[in-house]
Amino acid sequence: MSSEFRRLPSVDRLLADRRIKRLSQTCSHTLLVDLVRKQLEDARRAIKAGGPCPAIDEIVAAVSAQLNFLESPSLHPVVNATGVILHTNLGRALLSQEAISAMDAVASGYCNLEYDLNSGRRGSRQVHVEPILCQLTGAEAALVVNNNAAGVLLALTALAKRKEVIVSRGQAVEIGGSFRIPDVMRQSGAKLIEVGTTNCTYITDYEEALSPRTAALMRVHASNFRQIGFIHEASLEELIDLGKCRSVPVFDDLGSGCFLDTAAFGLDPEPMVPQSVSAGAALTLFSGDKLVGGPQAGIIVGRPEYVAKLRRHPLARAVRIDKIRLAGMVATLIHYLKGEALTKIPVWRMISTPITEIDRRAHLWAQALGSRAKVIDGETMVGGGSLPGGTLPTKLVTIGGQSKSPGRAQSLAQKLRLQKVPVIGRINEDILLLDPRTVLPEEDKIVLGALRGLAAGLK
Ligand SMILES: *Cc1c(COP(=O)(O)O)cnc(C)c1O
Repeated sequence: MSSEFRRLPSVDRLLADRRIKRLSQTCSHTLLVDLVRKQLEDARRAIKAGGPCPAIDEIVAAVSAQLNFLESPSLHPVVNATGVILHTNLGRALLSQEAISAMDAVASGYCNLEYDLNSGRRGSRQVHVEPILCQLTGAEAALVVNNNAAGVLLALTALAKRKEVIVSRGQAVEIGGSFRIPDVMRQSGAKLIEVGTTNCTYITDYEEALSPRTAALMRVHASNFRQIGFIHEASLEELIDLGKCRSVPVFDDLGSGCFLDTAAFGLDPEPMVPQSVSAGAALTLFSGDKLVGGPQAGIIVGRPEYVAKLRRHPLARAVRIDKIRLAGMVATLIHYLKGEALTKIPVWRMISTPITEIDRRAHLWAQALGSRAKVIDGETMVGGGSLPGGTLPTKLVTIGGQSKSPGRAQSLAQKLRLQKVPVIGRINEDILLLDPRTVLPEEDKIVLGALRGLAAGLK
């Protein structure tokens, strides 16, 4: 055994190897020494476990592979052909060209993020976005933070800590990714008072729960599920009337929130931000990267006295938005001011693409696959915590002759995922489906290449 140890090359011997020397051109010396040491440690462990000493070639190859692994980012673009527009695991909303340019500009140079050009003094980053949000929503004040989860936490911490917040039992929901209303409430130090039942909550339930400790009534949009049958929730208007009578503010967590009417596209109506504001919510909270179609952000609009308290709270600093996403958010919101959201913001471009156009592209994709492909009717989901029930009609490309074998659909899906630019489809009842609606037309050439490759492999 000890002889095996003696056969191990030294660190210096490995560093002098011609192949290792070549690697040093693409990484720092410290990193290379570290990787060599770690490989030698691994080899020593293997020998201790009774194995032979690895050949020097093996050690060199392992160092090279580890370096390659570390230096190739594992986060990279994919094509979303799943038919879920706001796919949280695939990064939610794609950004408009204008948003991308705005982010690029502030990333590559200094900017007047918190600097008043007129006076030459310190300013607030919120001044760049607040007037636009007030104009779009009708609110008198606005604040943008890291994401909507942070917005909700900030609002509850700053305004309801050690007090009570009344929420319908049907709205004490989990949004996914461990965001649960009862947990966020606990974290904020506010006491959740659940009222009503899972399916039915009436305004009288809120009324009976009001106490001198009540800090707010809160409505949470059930973003990712839908109840049917014998159900009732108090309306926002009822909550606001009750709140007014008893001088208690209403917080409205819309989840997605939007500025355009989804019903115009045959979808369920998703709550619109201006309606929440005009109904009289003290604070309306929503995401930047759901139906708004911007970068990750949490947007809070509402009455100035409440927004001011959030702005002053120490947690505001911990959840503040960075300059890059702020620039992207502003550029995205400007599309709504200009009335060009449908043509410029990818989420809305996807929602509004006519079925004839989807059909044309689906046939193009099917052609690349050859005779096995079929184009069938299907549905696109909006997803991402919005419109749980609503879908858009679409055309899906399937690979025929799959004979509903689970292994086969999985293996085709995996082949597409392992392309240079991965193409992600969805599997339904053991059939692989690809939806052109969630793929930008500019990405068609990537999909066509992947499908041709797949077809060649099937021959
Ligand atoms: C999505 C969602 C959140 C969380 O928003 P993020 O921007 O993902 O942090 C909070 N509340 C509701 C109702 C949601 O749908």
